[in-house]
Amino acid sequence: MIEIKYHKGFVPTYPVDKKSFEDKTHREFPYAQKDNYYALCPICENPVILLGLKKTILNKKPHARHTKYDVEGISDFEEIKYEKCPNHKKTSNYILETRNETAESIELYHLARENFDKIIYLIRQHLPIIISTNDAKKLLKYFITHKGWTYPNANEHNLWLMFFRHNAWN
Ligand SMILES: [Zn+2]
Repeated sequence: MIEIKYHKGFVPTYPVDKKSFEDKTHREFPYAQKDNYYALCPICENPVILLGLKKTILNKKPHARHTKYDVEGISDFEEIKYEKCPNHKKTSNYILETRNETAESIELYHLARENFDKIIYLIRQHLPIIISTNDAKKLLKYFITHKGWTYPNANEHNLWLMFFRHNAWN
């Protein structure tokens, strides 16, 4: 995954990069441990290891991967949440860029506005996190600010997932 967060709950997400890691953690425990850097998956809140920050990986940008083990001070590894996590699927690593508005994207926009309750219901069904009414409002606000309906691969079936595809909770 290419976005992480440093605390549990509805907090900003950040790209995996050196500067933001240093700003947010001052390279201190629990984020820096032995030879590794850690943070949290923004969706399932399992621990993630940050790759490509300490040592550059050839031909690969820095990114994060679920650890599948407990990380002291960060979080225990919870397998059920991990299995349900959309970030666990390979396709979720695609680069987040908005595309231009098209007739199709405008249709998606209207679909999202008219079915917001259903979308929140779907999110609650699919994702292992608790979403309060207030959180739902925040999600909608970010979705609109970042034009979630214009993300690549957005379609009527995965529209609910696009509420988490905002590049910029930072
Ligand atoms: Zn996850």
